[in-house]
Amino acid sequence: MPTRKPLIAGNWKMYKTVSEAFETADKLVQLVKDVDQAEVMIAPPFTALAPVFAAVQGTNVALGAQNLYWEAEGAYTGEISTSMLRSTGCTHVIIGHSERRQYFGETDESVNKKVKAAVAAGLIPVMCVGESEQERDDNKTFSVLDKQVKIGLEGLSLEDAATLVIAYEPIWAIGTGKTATKEQAQEVHRYLREWIEKNYSADLADAIRILYGGSVKPDNVTALMAQPDVDGALVGGASLDADTFSQIAKF
Ligand code: PEP
Repeated sequence: MPTRKPLIAGNWKMYKTVSEAFETADKLVQLVKDVDQAEVMIAPPFTALAPVFAAVQGTNVALGAQNLYWEAEGAYTGEISTSMLRSTGCTHVIIGHSERRQYFGETDESVNKKVKAAVAAGLIPVMCVGESEQERDDNKTFSVLDKQVKIGLEGLSLEDAATLVIAYEPIWAIGTGKTATKEQAQEVHRYLREWIEKNYSADLADAIRILYGGSVKPDNVTALMAQPDVDGALVGGASLDADTFSQIAKF
C-alpha cells in the first residue's frame, strides 16, 4: 500500500494585502491545528510571504510561493530567486500554473528550468499540468500531458524527482466552478503515475503525490480524495477563506 500523505495546497493568486494575508493565515492555523491526515500548504503572493511565515512558523501549515526565477541573482527586474524564497520561510513553490502559461508566456521549457532550480534549492516543486477544454474535446488530453511532463521534467534525475509534486489542473476546471468528475481525475492521475513509473521507477510512482486542482470545494473534495491516485488538492478560490479551506483540509 502506498504511504502518500495527502497535500492540501492553497493558491492565493493575486489576492490579499499583507494584513489580509496575515489574518487569514493566522485564522487557518487555528482551524487546522489538529489536522494530521494531510499536509497543509498556502501560497500567498510574494509580498505576503514573510508576514504569513510569521503566522505559520512552527505550525502544521507550510508556506509556498506561486512562482520563482531560475537564476541565482542578477539584473532580472521583478523576478524572485529561490534563495529569496527560502529566506522568507518557503518550503514549496508552485510552478507552471496554467495562468502563468496563459498570461505570462510560461512554457514547458521555462517550467523545466524552474523545477530544476527549485529542486537544487531544496524547495518542493508543485508542477502544474493540464489540458484545455478544446484539447480534451479533441481527445488530446494524454498527448498534451505527456509533452508537459516530458519537457517539464527533462534532465531531472530520479534523486532530483524525489520530492516532486505534480498538480493535475484541467484548465477548463480552474475558477469555472466546473470540476472534473472523480472518474476523469482518477483516469488522468493514473496515467501520470504510470508515466512516472515508466520514466523513473515503480518506487517513485508509488511515492509521488499527484494533486487535483480545478474548482475544489468542501462539497466535492471527499469524492475526489477517495480516488486511489488522487493525493491531495491544489485549491484556488476556495483557499482564500480560512473556514472554507480548513473544511477542505479536513476532507
Ligand atoms: C488554482 O488556482 O490552481 C485553482 C485550481 O483554482 P480554483 O480552485 O479557483 O479553480
